[in-house]
Amino acid sequence: MRHEFGEHGGVNMSIEASTTFTVMHAQTMPEIFHGRRGPEAGGCYLYGRHFNPTVYVLGHQIASIEGAQAGYATSSGMGAIAATILQVCNSGDHVVSGNTIYGGTFALLNEYLPLKAGVTTTFAPADDVAAIEAAITPRTRAIYVETIANPTLRVADLPRLAAVAHRHGALLIVDNTFAPMMVSPIRHGVDIVLHSLTKFMNGASDIIAGAVVGSSEFVSSMMDLHTGSLMLLGPTMDPRAAFEISLRLPHLGLRMAEHGRRALVFAQRLVDRGWPVCYPGLKSHPDHLVLKSILNDGYGLGGVLTIDLETQQRAERLMEMLQNEQRFGYMAVSLGYFDTLMSCSSATTSSELNEREQQEAKISPGLVRMSMGITGSLEQRWSQLEAALKTLGSP
Ligand code: PLP
Repeated sequence: MRHEFGEHGGVNMSIEASTTFTVMHAQTMPEIFHGRRGPEAGGCYLYGRHFNPTVYVLGHQIASIEGAQAGYATSSGMGAIAATILQVCNSGDHVVSGNTIYGGTFALLNEYLPLKAGVTTTFAPADDVAAIEAAITPRTRAIYVETIANPTLRVADLPRLAAVAHRHGALLIVDNTFAPMMVSPIRHGVDIVLHSLTKFMNGASDIIAGAVVGSSEFVSSMMDLHTGSLMLLGPTMDPRAAFEISLRLPHLGLRMAEHGRRALVFAQRLVDRGWPVCYPGLKSHPDHLVLKSILNDGYGLGGVLTIDLETQQRAERLMEMLQNEQRFGYMAVSLGYFDTLMSCSSATTSSELNEREQQEAKISPGLVRMSMGITGSLEQRWSQLEAALKTLGSP
């Protein structure tokens, strides 16, 4: 995409902080309302919930990172996910979803949408493509998966899932929050890509934001004045937030590579010492080859790893040691921060799944999810991790 300069020739774009936009000729306003003019047709804007120039540029940047025709940024990842499902599905429609997904998305599909919108979901393991296909009904409008699933780190075989979806006239929707730059789902046949920009994309844990990218036709449909779920539900991003996130995208690739470099070294060393580690970059990971087959070179193999300590008590003990004694990272949900963030998934970001659903998703009660930071030196961080693990005794 072309670089967006600031109003006075600044190397950075200007923040267009207006919520409403004026025109020279009164006739232009109805033309914008009727969709004959817009950001791409005459550079015309109407109202900030519809399109804002700064938010629009961020959407383009994310679309170009993802290799998509169009994109738009939203006020949260959940805003992007909910609006997308409601755009694709009408009441009575159906979704087939991977059974390990972020807990909030799980609750949205499992509880909220059936109740509020009559949209139902069948969950199946995303790696069991036959089970995913078997769950499809004549009302299935979409298959939904995460590229790297939260928190089990299973990797979705995007080309195979896309083929299944398309064979049944459904769309493949992918949450790529865990794998920006690393994987470009659109290149593998995916129709719509969603992001929580709150995580790696932004990288500083200071802004909640999301994005949806896909075909121009689909993104435009979300802004339709009558039936567009972004336009009508209004998960609108503030242009100041769009500006800040936009400034962090140029170093996203460098950050992903460093998160991934450290996660790989730590995962390998932990495995060598007998700790039960899950990391898709390890050859022993069940989806290592799947990841390799869809990976863009140069951005690492993922910034998140998990250690299964079997019980919540052991998980909590390790995290407290790592935070309070070793200063290795912070006990906090979320990921993609420059420092390490650690949480026990079963009790936090996957707690929307009941015990049976967690078992089916293979989320152990003692699973510690670590989003590997990029501060300090690798060896200094490793010695902190090693010292904390020693206090737990043997693996
Ligand atoms: N998707 C994934 C994979 C997540 O981990 C999260 C976490 O919160 C979300 C979506 C939701 O994003 P947000 O918190 O920005 O609404």
